Amino acid sequence: MKYIDIHTHRKKNNENILSLQNISPEKFIQQPGYENNCFSAGIHPWYIDTTLEDKINILKQIASNPAVLAIGETGLDKICKTDFDLQKRAFNAQISIAGTVQKPLIIHCVKAYNEVQQVLKEAKTNVPVLFHGFRGKPQLAKELTNAGFYLSFGNLFNEESLKQTPIDRIFLETDDADIEIEKIYTLVAEVKGLSVNKLIKTVNENFERCFGRQSL
Ligand SMILES: [Zn+2]
Repeated sequence: MKYIDIHTHRKKNNENILSLQNISPEKFIQQPGYENNCFSAGIHPWYIDTTLEDKINILKQIASNPAVLAIGETGLDKICKTDFDLQKRAFNAQISIAGTVQKPLIIHCVKAYNEVQQVLKEAKTNVPVLFHGFRGKPQLAKELTNAGFYLSFGNLFNEESLKQTPIDRIFLETDDADIEIEKIYTLVAEVKGLSVNKLIKTVNENFERCFGRQSL
């Protein structure tokens, strides 16, 4: 069973790790040997510009490719400069694409948890939803996991939030941090009072449930 790194911006070649490399749609076909890797493809709220419609069209074309496992990261960010309505438009378009191809959504959310949940609800989202880089407080973790969402933890997280997140809602990630995923499994296993092997097994089960396939 492999370590799963559900969200990274780095290309990794390690046969003990299944990692989802996050890329912008227009970069997907430029990846040499891309068929052998796993990706999440989406339009980040930070990078929405006049090319948005083009990127949405490319995403529509590549979304069903077997190497694209998830749509994202997409979402809403109240700190970035991108117009909020434009962010919502991009987010809705990507929710719709994820629904069409029935692949999970990887969410980037900064200070917009209510709005993200509202958009997901209004769009009648029926695919698994993973909030990546979760650093929120325990109350928020509870609210999101009770609503059926998954939380992905990286090298920085609120320990109390992790403690009370049910293990069947957990993913782990390196994002763009210069850290090995194994290290994050060790940190998280310790907080959850689990062995690393049990944690690997649990994350693999979560992966199978969300992605409808095994990591091997
Ligand atoms: Zn990221």
